[in-house]
Amino acid sequence: MSTITEPAREIPVRATADVVVCGGGVSGVIAALAAARQGARAVLVEHHGFLGGVTTAALVNGIGGWQFDLDGAPLIGGIPLEVVGRIVAAGGGDVAQVENLATRRATPPDYRDGGLGCYWVQVNPEAAKWALDRLMEESGVRVLLHAQAVHPLLTAGRISGVLIESKSGREAITAPVVIDCTGDGDLAARAGAPFAIGREEDGACQPMTAIYVAGNAPRPHLWYRDEATDPEQDPLRRGRFRGAVADARERGTLTRNPNDLFCAATQIARRDERTSAVNFTRIQGRSAVDVADLTAAEIEGRQQVREAISFQRTYMPGCADAYVVQVAPHIGIRESRRILGDHVLTGAEVLAAAHFPDAIARGIYLLDIHNPKEVGKPSMLRMLDRPYSIPYRCLLPRGIEGLLVAGRCISGDATALASYRVQSHAMAIGQAAGTAAALAAQRGITPRALSTDLLRTTLRQAGANVGE
Ligand SMILES: Cc1cc2nc3c(=O)[nH]c(=O)nc-3n(C[C@H](O)[C@H](O)[C@H](O)COP(=O)(O)OP(=O)(O)OC[C@H]3O[C@@H](n4cnc5c(N)ncnc54)[C@H](O)[C@@H]3O)c2cc1C
Repeated sequence: MSTITEPAREIPVRATADVVVCGGGVSGVIAALAAARQGARAVLVEHHGFLGGVTTAALVNGIGGWQFDLDGAPLIGGIPLEVVGRIVAAGGGDVAQVENLATRRATPPDYRDGGLGCYWVQVNPEAAKWALDRLMEESGVRVLLHAQAVHPLLTAGRISGVLIESKSGREAITAPVVIDCTGDGDLAARAGAPFAIGREEDGACQPMTAIYVAGNAPRPHLWYRDEATDPEQDPLRRGRFRGAVADARERGTLTRNPNDLFCAATQIARRDERTSAVNFTRIQGRSAVDVADLTAAEIEGRQQVREAISFQRTYMPGCADAYVVQVAPHIGIRESRRILGDHVLTGAEVLAAAHFPDAIARGIYLLDIHNPKEVGKPSMLRMLDRPYSIPYRCLLPRGIEGLLVAGRCISGDATALASYRVQSHAMAIGQAAGTAAALAAQRGITPRALSTDLLRTTLRQAGANVGE
């Protein structure tokens, strides 16, 4: 690609803060909230016109990965549980379910409970937007929507804020600590932090999914799991789905979607069994950090949705008049950059239930790898026997001071990412990042210099589970 040189120019300073959080998905919202609760002036910069990230923009409305720790305490407590509680209280889900998840178990947990070894809270994406707006307002976080964080302000490896682009033009926000919660690690990558993408052997990432809301379709008939994902599923039902896929493939009406193993449908509203967010499409071989690939993926996703709804109308009982209410405004990205930090959490550590002295969060979500390349081949699904810990060092990009990463883009290998990417875990990591950022800013030190004992004590005081 040829290049040009952009002329130097004066940039207005939109805000001066203690902590800037880039990206308002579940990790970013919670990071901003945690920083504000520690007394920091926090600014949250979000590309969309609403908060929630994948939960709202990609319509992934089953917030998963909740469990109980070995001692019966909630595996993920603190701000994540509070936030989910606020979403369900806003009419977005089952209040009693969240209360149960927040209540210590008297007996040791069974890590086969829930569904795929953990619990899922289904939320209404619009209720999530309202609740997150209210939470930001109450906590004094300054939110900028429709704003893109485009570049870190960086001098000799030390961050001092970010450049943003919006309808107001190019502006700066200065702050001693920046948290990259963009999912893709945009800011960390542009700061020069090393990163990895995809599987170790060939760089292939898990496929993307265009989730759509199907109306007038009874949810139970949309659900399908192959034996790899659900050994219990009724074989007759499984046979019927397989037969339908084979028939549609033969007739040339299901040509694009490589996935015939799994179709999930989660209700949008508790009392409406006929309107669900459907997770069925799979877009393989596209990069989430290349604009041409992203464009192609969005277009391909919509084409797959067209075929999917026609497939469901033809083959699924009670779905003859099903229709697409909406395709998610943003394609769902499962995997992109993993920013390499002071520690790289590995799949082996996750499986060994590793604990670290600088643990800031706990995880249990299974190793859930959707097939990156092949057609009709199972995903890798491996449930965990015991919870593992996530070290603070995974939030510290190598070689950069003043920067933290949180959510999906933290430092891990592709196998570990398959677990910690789930929303409840991304939220817990967000709480740790926001708390660390505020503590560091208040002390005039970099996040790397922060005492992890202080961080862990502060997190515990705020209800987070950081393990032993
Ligand atoms: C199809 C699919 C199905 C999934 N299923 C489940 C499930 O059932 N349950 C579950 O719990 N998890 C599921 N996950 C995983 C989970 O949803 C995500 O990994 C998690 O939500 C990531 O959260 P995050 O905060 O790291 O990133 P995101 O939610 O991606 O948030 C990033 C935010 O940053 C914004 N942003 C990006 N770049 C910039 C920028 N430069 N400037 C400003 N803003 C920016 C984006 O607009 C977005 O709001 C699924 C994911 C996908 C894609």
